[in-house]
Amino acid sequence: MLEYDIVIVGAGPAGSAAALRASSSGKKVLVLERGPEPGSKNVSGAMVRKDYVTSVFGEGMPFERNVERIKLSLYNKDKPVNIEFSPENLVTTGRLKFDKWLSSVSENAGAMVIPKTTALKVNWDNGIAKSITTDRGEVSAKSFVLAEGVNSLLSMESKIKYDLKPENAVQTVKEVYSVKKEDINSMFNMKNESSGVAWRYIMTDPLVAGFLYTYKDSISVGIGSPINQLVERKIRPEKLLDDFMEKTGISDMVKGYSLREYSAKVIPEAGFPDINVSKSNVYLCGDALGLVDPLTFDGISPAIASGTIAGDAAVSNIDPATYKYELMKSSEISKIAKERKLEAEFMSGDKAKEYIEMVSSIFSDWASGNLFGIRNTMVNNYRNIIPDLMGFAIKMR
Ligand SMILES: Cc1cc2nc3c(=O)[nH]c(=O)nc-3n(C[C@H](O)[C@H](O)[C@H](O)COP(=O)(O)OP(=O)(O)OC[C@H]3O[C@@H](n4cnc5c(N)ncnc54)[C@H](O)[C@@H]3O)c2cc1C
Repeated sequence: MLEYDIVIVGAGPAGSAAALRASSSGKKVLVLERGPEPGSKNVSGAMVRKDYVTSVFGEGMPFERNVERIKLSLYNKDKPVNIEFSPENLVTTGRLKFDKWLSSVSENAGAMVIPKTTALKVNWDNGIAKSITTDRGEVSAKSFVLAEGVNSLLSMESKIKYDLKPENAVQTVKEVYSVKKEDINSMFNMKNESSGVAWRYIMTDPLVAGFLYTYKDSISVGIGSPINQLVERKIRPEKLLDDFMEKTGISDMVKGYSLREYSAKVIPEAGFPDINVSKSNVYLCGDALGLVDPLTFDGISPAIASGTIAGDAAVSNIDPATYKYELMKSSEISKIAKERKLEAEFMSGDKAKEYIEMVSSIFSDWASGNLFGIRNTMVNNYRNIIPDLMGFAIKMR
């Protein structure tokens, strides 16, 4: 049997961050990845904060376009209120290239990455994990990091966490279209192929969070919606994506271009800090801890932050309470944990609808010079806003 100091399951952002950290401290590290190569299970792209990734993995991150404009469209029935701003440091990146690069940085630090290998089971002896059985044999280690993503089969089988309930999960559906570089530039009024846009959408009735990202020669568009809402209203997610594309005009935009990829995935709306983060010498990180924002879909930075902490935890074999404390100290992670309660509230009941209707009516009154209308909206809504703000302040502490 092969023997290592630390075995990590998954070569996504969380697993590679853990591998980088653990191997940099001189440990013998093995990363198991079931895909043919890191990132191959995540072929499309994402929007990430380049400065944060660089602060952990160093210079050289491959990216597609600098996000020069972010547009937020809030839909009240069929009419959007659009807000546009210029962010700093955001880029789009192709996951295949990105994940491969993260993994190569961990290899340069000394980690051994074995693709095409699926971890099947953690083997325990007297409450201590001793080895992992894979489809290609067994490997033993002193500690283990489970960075296996949202479908955390090993974590569940080891009874560290339990499956997500429908009310705690958001179903996403995504499509990627191949579009010529020049066409993307003219569609979004971009000066060249290194400039890009990102578009975020929120719709109510049913509640949908959507996005559109531009890459060098493709556009990805997707939506997420709470699973319990889809079940209650008997809505198929692919139909929701079609309706979303129709309503936003994206269908016309991508007409005639070929569909390169279609994928569906669940985003957890529950997780850290309300779940176990580790058991004995086995540490969870990234999506396995539910560290992804269900409204904005941001999950890569918290995956990297938690992977880094998991790498350190595995090196010094810390106990669950200390590991949880270390995770909570990271602003990337505590932000998600604190915002989760607010988002759950926003995504349930009529809160999202109330607020979007209010914003939309304020903006349209502003546009038509109806200042009394704005005042009336504020007066009519203050009874809800004030208790909500106080509740938000308490929950965010
Ligand atoms: C539609 C959608 C859009 C998103 N957009 C963004 C975005 O724009 N920006 C952003 O920051 N985040 C985005 N996210 C979230 C982001 O993708 C995740 O939060 C992030 O990938 C989590 O990283 P991870 O390393 O924890 O898990 P993953 O990236 O899922 O990596 C897990 C790895 O483990 C491997 N694996 C799993 N099980 C095993 C096993 N048993 N044996 C061996 N290998 C295994 C998998 O093949 C995979 O490579 C999006 C998510 C979705 C669904």
